[in-house]
Amino acid sequence: MSRKSIGLEEDLYDYLLSVSLREPIILAQLRQETAQHPMSQMQISPEQGQFMALLIKLLGAKKTLDIGVFTGYSALVVALALPMNGKVIACDVSDEFTSIARRYWERGGVSNKIDLHISPALETLDQLLLNGEKETFDFAFIDADKSNYEKYYERSLQLIRSGGLIAIDNVLWSGKVADTAVQDTQTKAIRALNCRLYQDSRITLSVLPIGDGLTLARKN
Ligand code: CA
Repeated sequence: MSRKSIGLEEDLYDYLLSVSLREPIILAQLRQETAQHPMSQMQISPEQGQFMALLIKLLGAKKTLDIGVFTGYSALVVALALPMNGKVIACDVSDEFTSIARRYWERGGVSNKIDLHISPALETLDQLLLNGEKETFDFAFIDADKSNYEKYYERSLQLIRSGGLIAIDNVLWSGKVADTAVQDTQTKAIRALNCRLYQDSRITLSVLPIGDGLTLARKN
């Protein structure tokens, strides 16, 4: 799954990390604690986190969305890369997972940058649109339930500004998207989204084999 980049041999992956990963200790500690969790494969890989931090700085992002928090690694890595007045609107339905997240956000000194909404993300996103926050976000990271990916994408596209970026996780889904024998709901939802984005002229598109597959969609 997504704890390391797919398709790389172990020794090459280790080499890549050895010459590139500059993971702050707070993120390494969160990763260690999450590794004990039965659903630890839901965490993004550290090199993907570092790449997202780079994107945040390239964009000059101030206001971001984190859709699917789990134990908070992606929100933490983004919040650390944001300026002092930056903000992450974080969406999740689990008090249990996000209690770990909140502990690390506090320890990392970024809890003031992160607004956590415990409710279905679609409701939070619709509320942001109702609040008039259309086209005010610079960046969105989508990493929640795959069956709603298209809905998260459409709302995120409304919420980000022109030139803003949507990053979508797990788009290669451990390779299952390319295996026609796999026909479960989640795999089909990811395939449908991948096809749809390929046709979508509203965005500039790239799909990267980092982590479990990461789509970058820049709003034109
Ligand atoms: Ca993921």
